Amino acid sequence: MTPTRDRIRQLIATLRTTNYDQLEHRLLAALDRNTRSGDATPDGYPTNTLNDSTGSAELTSVESAAHRRLDHPDPDKMRANLRHACRFLDDAVHALHIVDTRLARIETHSARTPPAPEKCQACRIRPAELRSTAGGRLDHAYELCEPCVHFATHVCERHGIPPRIPTPEEAAHHDRTGRWKLRIPA
Ligand SMILES: [Zn+2]
Repeated sequence: MTPTRDRIRQLIATLRTTNYDQLEHRLLAALDRNTRSGDATPDGYPTNTLNDSTGSAELTSVESAAHRRLDHPDPDKMRANLRHACRFLDDAVHALHIVDTRLARIETHSARTPPAPEKCQACRIRPAELRSTAGGRLDHAYELCEPCVHFATHVCERHGIPPRIPTPEEAAHHDRTGRWKLRIPA
């Protein structure tokens, strides 16, 4: 689904509310805390790396219970939270990089192929402005300019003929004079 302009502005506004300095400060503080708690782990195994998932799995249930009674956060949970936070930060940075890459691709592509509006399928004079069935009056959708849509929706009806797109001759006459002159088949 293509987002709206409002949605894009809303997303960017949300990003702007992020305090990156504070985020860095808190992550580093958490890392330091993790390192310190690793040193204090009763089983004697160092648990101060982010990739270490064994940690206090080495603790017996009694040791774990004792540990939980201590008045500081469970180092296992702390480490899991830190790993989680870092992984999502990594993903967020990666995602922003993708946003940038995709936009660059669009811009490069647009620069190579300047958007030349297709000509209206009926008159072949003006650029097509919309893809329209003239409100279901035509058998299928055409790429049309506004005057040709007007022809199919109103001019045909005014002249009591079945809705259709104008012929190139009718369109050329309209382009010269600003008036529709119908060439009604016998
Ligand atoms: Zn047209």
